[in-house]
Amino acid sequence: MNILELYQRDGHQGKREASTNGGTWGGHCPHCGGRDRFRIQPFFSGSNWHEGGRWSCNRCYPRWSDAPGYLMVFHRMTYPDACRELGIEPKRRQEFQAAPLAPRPAWKPEDAAPPPSTWQKKATDFVACGEKNLWSEAGAEAKAYLKSRGLSRNFIKFARLGWNPETQFDDYSVWGLPPERNEKGNPRKVWLAPGIVIPVFGGDGQLLRVKIRRSEPDSKPKYIAIAGGAATSFMVLGDAAAVVVVEAELDALLLYQEAGDLATMIATGSAQFKPSAEAFARLKKAPAVLVALDAEQSGYEAWKWWRDNLSNTRFCPVPVGKDPTEAHQKGIDLRAWVGACVL
Ligand SMILES: [Zn+2]
Repeated sequence: MNILELYQRDGHQGKREASTNGGTWGGHCPHCGGRDRFRIQPFFSGSNWHEGGRWSCNRCYPRWSDAPGYLMVFHRMTYPDACRELGIEPKRRQEFQAAPLAPRPAWKPEDAAPPPSTWQKKATDFVACGEKNLWSEAGAEAKAYLKSRGLSRNFIKFARLGWNPETQFDDYSVWGLPPERNEKGNPRKVWLAPGIVIPVFGGDGQLLRVKIRRSEPDSKPKYIAIAGGAATSFMVLGDAAAVVVVEAELDALLLYQEAGDLATMIATGSAQFKPSAEAFARLKKAPAVLVALDAEQSGYEAWKWWRDNLSNTRFCPVPVGKDPTEAHQKGIDLRAWVGACVL
């Protein structure tokens, strides 16, 4: 497994940036986060290097390290364990010690930029078309699925959920986006997968991003974001004082339907996403921020950020299942649960 594959396995996305040394990928650093300071050359080779390429971060790890080094630094493995995991022979006679990382810089919120106006227009049309499809004959299965998640007919309408029946690939230019190339060097396309369309609006009603829950069986990833949206902007529902934070938009919607008068419901969109400056100011003012990220490893890991950056926060995973929808399906009264959490 090369470093790019390790990096992707950890849930990060690299972007091909240059063709030097068989290709250089950039992305955010698993340690300090910085959006574009991490470099991977998965096909780099040299006599002193293991297979799998090399990586560096120009803030916290400014020299090159290799694939075992990646596991040693980010997974705290020993050198022999890292080699075993990669299925390679240990090379160095003496056990290699990964140099320590530079300390993590203090987190600072950033202003979120709304998507370009052409994108907003295209996305608004796509969402409207999705709504029409959902309430037509073609949307019957999607409606049944949303109902099985506990969402009522009126609420599905209020949330403006929709249905996209078939795959479509658009040129970036059609959505007002600058051209980008994929890992093979071909132009990226805006991918509209078949599935349930979930729009996320800002406080002023502006469309910030759109997600699709893919309907093809066993599709991975299950959710995709339409390219060009404000990917890390949170879905914020309501204006109650207390706040409940979850990962998935459909979970936040279900909670808002059941208990929107008791707490503002926020969906981060992904366990790793952090609030914008505006969202962070809102969170700091709240009497309580109840973090109910998915009750699995990624959620527990992500909780640490909330604990370290907000003094008014508490970890409140759902009592049964991994997320609020599962809890609801297993018979938990979400309104009673939120009520007990905000006390
Ligand atoms: Zn770093």
